[in-house]
Amino acid sequence: MQNFQDLITKIINRLYPRKSQESARIILKQHYLQSPKRYRSLTLEQLAKTPSLERPLTRERARQVLNNFRKRDLPREIELLERSQSLDDSIMKEKRQDLADLTETVTKIVNEVDTFERPIFAWRVQNRLRTSGFISEEVFFPLITELADSLNISCNFYVDSFNGKRLVLDSDVKVSTVTTEIISYASKVATHLGGTCSFEALLGPSIYKTKPQFFTFLPQELTKKYLIDLFSMDSSFMQLQSETYYAFRSKDERVSTILASIFKYYDVPIPQEELTSVIIKSLKHRFLIKSKSEQRDRKIAMLESSGEAIDEFCRRISLLDESTDDKRKPGATLLNSMSCHTASEAVKSQAIMLSRIREANEPLTSKQFARIAHEHVDEQYKSSCFSYPILYLSSGTRKNKLYRPLAFDYGNAQPTVVNVSAEALSARKELESLDFNQDDNITTVTTRRREQYQLRNYLVTNSDLIEIGEDSKACKCLICNRYFPVNLLIAAHVKRRADCTPDEKRDFENIAMLQCGGCDQLFEKGYIVIDDEGTVTRNERYEVSEDLQKKLARVSGNKTDYFVKGNSNRLNYLQHHRKSFA
Ligand SMILES: [Zn+2]
Repeated sequence: MQNFQDLITKIINRLYPRKSQESARIILKQHYLQSPKRYRSLTLEQLAKTPSLERPLTRERARQVLNNFRKRDLPREIELLERSQSLDDSIMKEKRQDLADLTETVTKIVNEVDTFERPIFAWRVQNRLRTSGFISEEVFFPLITELADSLNISCNFYVDSFNGKRLVLDSDVKVSTVTTEIISYASKVATHLGGTCSFEALLGPSIYKTKPQFFTFLPQELTKKYLIDLFSMDSSFMQLQSETYYAFRSKDERVSTILASIFKYYDVPIPQEELTSVIIKSLKHRFLIKSKSEQRDRKIAMLESSGEAIDEFCRRISLLDESTDDKRKPGATLLNSMSCHTASEAVKSQAIMLSRIREANEPLTSKQFARIAHEHVDEQYKSSCFSYPILYLSSGTRKNKLYRPLAFDYGNAQPTVVNVSAEALSARKELESLDFNQDDNITTVTTRRREQYQLRNYLVTNSDLIEIGEDSKACKCLICNRYFPVNLLIAAHVKRRADCTPDEKRDFENIAMLQCGGCDQLFEKGYIVIDDEGTVTRNERYEVSEDLQKKLARVSGNKTDYFVKGNSNRLNYLQHHRKSFA
C-alpha cells in the first residue's frame, strides 16, 4: 500500500501548479496532512488562517478550495484516468499513475473501515487500524475515506462530526438520530427515575415515552459501548457502580428536594440504608399512584434496585457526605441548596407528626398516628402526613405499622465533632516556620517532605473526619469524594508548586487540596481538570486507554468541596491548573 501522504501531496502539486494557486495548495495540504494526534480536527476558520498563507483567507474561500478539489477537480481527473485506461493510452496513464495509486490506497482503507460495526467513534477505529499496523501513526483515516466519493469508490458509511469528534455512520443514518436524540432520551429517562438509571433499563423495553429507533440497531453490548462513548462527551454525564448505572449531574432535582426536606428536620447523620430506602420510597410514590401497568412495574422494580447507585450519585455530587458508622449527612451542594429550600405543605404536615413522635419518645402505631393527625393536621394535607420522606414506617401489617423518625434519634442527639483545633494550630505553626522564599533548587527533599506532611496535617485537621476504628480516622479525597485513612491522603498543590510565588505557597488554606493517591496522579498529570463550577471533568485533550477511561469514569462529573463560590484564590489556582493542560 502506497503512502497516502506522499500520494496526496503529489496530486495536489500536480493539479494546482501555478503560483496563483499557492493558497489552494497550502490549504489542501494543511487539511489532508493533519495529524491524528490533534484531539479536534481543524475547522474551516483554522484552515483559512493557516500561518504559511501569504494572508488569511475567508472561511468561505477555504470551503471552496476543499469543495473544488473533492467535487470538481478530482472527479475530472478520475474521468480522464478512466478514459486513458479504456483507450489504453499509456502516456496518459503514466501521467496519472499517482491517482491510480491513491485510488488503490483509499479503496483498501475504505474496505477495512467498512468491517467495523457502526455507529462508532472514529478514534476507536483509528486506534484499531493503527495497532493492527493497517495505517501508520501519522495517518488519520477519516481524511482518507472522505475522498471515496470523489474517487468513485463505493462506500457503505460516511464520517461526520459531532461536537468536534468524528463518527463513522452507516450511509442511511442521520447524525442526530444517533447523537442528540439518544442523549436527550437518556437524560429524560434518568430525570424520570429521579436522577439515575441502569444501562440495562435504558437498553431494555421502553420505560419512558417512545424510544429512539437507534436501540434496535445493534446488539446490546455494542450499543452500551457506543452509548458510553457518546455520553462521555457530555460533561454532566456520570457512570455509576462501575458501568452499571448512569446519571446526568444536572438531573438531581428530585433527589435534592427529597434530601433537603429530610435534613431540614434532622440535624444528625442518618444511617445510609435507611436514608436510601426513604429516597427510593419517595421516588416510587409517584409511580405507585398511577394505575398498574407493565411499564409502571418496570419503573418501580428499577427504582427498588437502584439504591447503591443513588447513594453513589449523591455522594459524588456532594449532596451527601459520609459520616461515621456508615451514616450520611448533608454534603456541600445540599447545604447550599437547603438555604433557599422551602418545605412543601405536604412535608410540613409530616413535620408536625414528626414532632409528636419525638415528644412521645417512642414510635406511634397507625391508630395513634391517625388520631393525632386528625387533631393536628389540616384536612387537605392529612393523607400526605402518612407518606415519606421524613417519617419512617416500620413494616408490619397495615394495621400495626409503626411510625418513627429516621435515625431513631427521638430527640436532640448531636453529631460527634472531633475536636482537632489544637492539632491544626500546631501544624499551622510548623508551616509558618518554613522558609518559602528559598530558591526551589536549593530546597532539600527533607524540607519538602516536611512541608508536604504538615500541609496535609493542616488540611486534614480542617476537614471533616470520620472514625473508622479505635484509633484510626478517615478523611475525604476531594476528587473522588471517598474516604481514606489519613496516611493515604496527599496535600496536592492545585497550582503546581513550582509555579507558585512564595506568597502562594504560604496560602495554606487554598493552595492545596486533599487527594487520594490515585486521584492525585490523574490531577497532577492533567487527565482531570476542574471547571469554573467545581465539577471534575475529564480532559478531552488526551486520548486514553480503555482501562484509564474506566478510572476516569469513576470521578468525572463529581462536585469537589474544594470549590467554594466566591473564593477567588481557589478559582485562580483551578484555572491555572486547567490552562497548563489545555
Ligand atoms: Zn480520590
